[in-house]
Amino acid sequence: MKGGMLTPGTIGCLETGRSPTHACAEKEAPVTRTIAVANQKGGVAKTTTVASVGMALAELGQRVLVVDLDPQACLTFSLGLDPEALELSIHDVFMGRVGAAMAVRSITKNLDVLPSTIDLTGTEIALHDRPAREYVLRTALADVSSGYDFVLIDCSPSLGVLTINALTAAGEVLIPLQCETLAHRGVGQLLDTVGDVRRLTNSDLVVLGVLPTLFDGRTTHARAVLADVSDRFGVTVLDPPINRSIRFAEAPASGESILTTASSNPGAQAYRAHALQLMGEEAAA
Ligand code: ADP
Ligand code: MG
Repeated sequence: MKGGMLTPGTIGCLETGRSPTHACAEKEAPVTRTIAVANQKGGVAKTTTVASVGMALAELGQRVLVVDLDPQACLTFSLGLDPEALELSIHDVFMGRVGAAMAVRSITKNLDVLPSTIDLTGTEIALHDRPAREYVLRTALADVSSGYDFVLIDCSPSLGVLTINALTAAGEVLIPLQCETLAHRGVGQLLDTVGDVRRLTNSDLVVLGVLPTLFDGRTTHARAVLADVSDRFGVTVLDPPINRSIRFAEAPASGESILTTASSNPGAQAYRAHALQLMGEEAAA
């Protein structure tokens, strides 16, 4: 099944209490929104999106946990932590050695990270023979997520068991997309996986939409790719797109986000607009 017929927030509120629509949120106590940021293609700005939206939500006073689910640990590194120097990481959580709370590290007042290390490469193999291996992250996050308004999961560039864990733990999935030829193929494969996850482990999973990243609005090609993806799969294309800017490449090297290194950059502002939308508020024009 493709993810095309879903719209953001249509499922999950009444039955599960997860991923409330805004109308629903008015009536109920706020619930943690857990969003997996996934695309099995590398270099499409998954990590940048998690770091930037996470930082923007934290700036807006939301309590945020970002989860690094990539053995390359780029998110961990870009938040100023040295993955090699960590005593505990998400690998230890997957192995059942510690609860998630033990491995969480504070980055700013409102922003925490569940960090990764290269050890996570061994996690997939270690999980292979475990019963209910798709549910390990969901179970681990259940212990900590009530302390947060948002949990954002940075997936690795694969559709392996770690990404299945993320999609099983999440209420929603956000798909960063670089608008280039054949980009639709990756989206199709990911939506097939979302369909599998809905059937097998998480029937409430909602596709939040496709986020255009590394966007060059001067080309008609980028817009044609987006129109094609939207037509083919019926997924929402989220607005505004994140324009390509060299400032994004500079920020992680300094252990900081573009939100602090180039606060008024259009890309930083676009990520802030998405953070506001996630909170159910519109950015000021
Ligand atoms: P992924 O996690 O999908 O592999 P990253 O977030 O690591 O992708 O981004 C890949 C590269 O692109 C990084 O060097 C990052 O700094 C850069 N990048 C991300 N977003 C932008 C952007 N809007 N403009 C320019 N470079 C970007
Ligand atoms: Mg990444």
